[in-house]
Amino acid sequence: MTRGRRACGVEVGLAFVEGHPNPAPAAPVTCETCAASCCRLEVWCLTDTGVPGHLTVTDHFGRTLMDRLDDGWCAALDRDTLLCRIYAQRPLVCRELEVGSPECLAERG
Ligand code: SF4
Ligand code: SF4
Repeated sequence: MTRGRRACGVEVGLAFVEGHPNPAPAAPVTCETCAASCCRLEVWCLTDTGVPGHLTVTDHFGRTLMDRLDDGWCAALDRDTLLCRIYAQRPLVCRELEVGSPECLAERG
């Protein structure tokens, strides 16, 4: 089991070289070597996980989203440590994004 987002920072996945007949592990993928790329994504608060209301916004469809500040990062991200300040209350989509998953690798670029 791996957990995504910069907040964990300790769990490691492996990237594999696509198209290689015997995929060889490339560099380890870890949040420690990533500038919290996935914390710039739009994050819907689909369930009530206890996210403080002042960190969310409501869009014109009435959906609750994590607010993002002018720098593009989520309002809950600590800019100094690049860790999630509400890790225990983070939204479901943040919990489900796995380190090393295609979505993670796409964001890391
Ligand atoms: S994009 Fe991947 S490696 Fe980067 S912080 Fe998110 S889960 Fe961690
Ligand atoms: S709630 Fe936490 S883990 Fe989710 S995007 Fe914001 S800073 Fe990242």
